[in-house]
Amino acid sequence: MAMDYEIVVGLEIHAELNTDTKIFCGCKNVFGAEVNSCCCPICTGMPGSLPSLNEKVVDYAIKMGHALNCTINNVCKQDRKNYFYPDLPKAYQISQFDVPLCEHGYLDIMVDDQGNTKRIGVTRIHIEEDAGKLLHDDRFNGSLCDYNRCGVPLIEIVSEPDIRSSAEAKAYLDGIKATLSYLDISDCKMQEGSIRCDVNVSVMEKGSGKFGTRVEMKNVNSFSAAVRAIDYEAQRQMDVLRKGGTVDQETRRWDDMKGVSIMMRSKEDAQDYRYFPDPDLLTIVVDEEHVKELKDSLPELPGHRMLRYMKEFGLPHFDANLLVENKEKAAFFDEAVQFGCQPKNISNWMLGDVSRILNEKNLTLADTKLTPKKLCEMIALIEKKEISNNAGKTVLEEIIFSDKTADQVVKEKGLAQISDSSFLEGIVKSVLEANPKAVADYKGGKTNVAGFLVGQCMRASKGQGNPAILKELVEKEISKL
Ligand SMILES: [Zn+2]
Repeated sequence: MAMDYEIVVGLEIHAELNTDTKIFCGCKNVFGAEVNSCCCPICTGMPGSLPSLNEKVVDYAIKMGHALNCTINNVCKQDRKNYFYPDLPKAYQISQFDVPLCEHGYLDIMVDDQGNTKRIGVTRIHIEEDAGKLLHDDRFNGSLCDYNRCGVPLIEIVSEPDIRSSAEAKAYLDGIKATLSYLDISDCKMQEGSIRCDVNVSVMEKGSGKFGTRVEMKNVNSFSAAVRAIDYEAQRQMDVLRKGGTVDQETRRWDDMKGVSIMMRSKEDAQDYRYFPDPDLLTIVVDEEHVKELKDSLPELPGHRMLRYMKEFGLPHFDANLLVENKEKAAFFDEAVQFGCQPKNISNWMLGDVSRILNEKNLTLADTKLTPKKLCEMIALIEKKEISNNAGKTVLEEIIFSDKTADQVVKEKGLAQISDSSFLEGIVKSVLEANPKAVADYKGGKTNVAGFLVGQCMRASKGQGNPAILKELVEKEISKL
């Protein structure tokens, strides 16, 4: 009988912090600047240059530590992690080894639609510097180095191996990203590499509680790629074990295009990095008062907000999860519900047509002229049956990019829904006259032709007839025939 296995996943997330300057020098921390234009002797590791720590980096990391319920080590140090790589000019990276700034935290993730959660342990959060980037260009025989990213501040968030499926991994990654966004400590632009993750995967016999050998996959650069990498790698390991083989501890590269993981190297242990305390940097000491101030400064966090949306407004988990994904969208929703429309209607429009338009044009809400008030005025017209749902779509297309209100657009385009029965009666009568066969079918018991007749009436009213009233009138008029 085939052995049953369970997936075990741990994640190491690297997030670039959005401080104005780099971690150890005054160089600008920006993406996309001209190659090697944001560098100095410190971030390029010239002999004799001395780093000094940017305090903002410590503040940002402590905020994340608080948000993930960590213990804050207000006295800690920085260590050199030695390895050689062309994009690391010092041949060591300044990181934190045995005493990270934050440790022993957790993030609760939602595991079903009923609001049940699972707690994923956060082992540690430490601060470190990013490395440069290699540019591969066919015009040159070799690679070029861009050191602009050297010294960009990072936090590394290491989870406990508490994750048991790719879906849980996705929920955890979404939660971390949303938290970074709410704290406004990272721009979270995945496409620019602001968040990267290393994925550790192993499988164990179901119920044994004994972890298998883990394989690490480096620099997976999107959350959907992480899901694919986990599913693939777990399956690969199960296949190996079922054939009687053993899984080797190694580092593999995830090739998302081909959908396979490829062996890179056998895994190095911590001792390979010869960590030692950086002699150029002072011990980090943050006074307790300041640690508390940072805690008090936290905004409402996404996990809490999601539960609030489910409890207070009765939104399904699916909606709540998408609305809290970024701070801007959640703030828009929070303001919109104050205008008295149904929260579920607001959610439907925000996640439906508004999102569709934004995606098509690659914009965010802030790039448009849509305000919570304008959106709700439009939704209110639908709720009061003054315009149809379809007319609402037309109205939205107009108000999202102009200063016009929903009322103005409805008047200009003549979109008001007609609920006047005496007017609609005339339409219904002429439609019934023109479709004697459908009427006969209806009378013969095929009542589903009513839909067809209502559709004809809608067309005759140029889409402005109130469909509910038309349906009533169709039934009433046929019964008179
Ligand atoms: Zn610099």
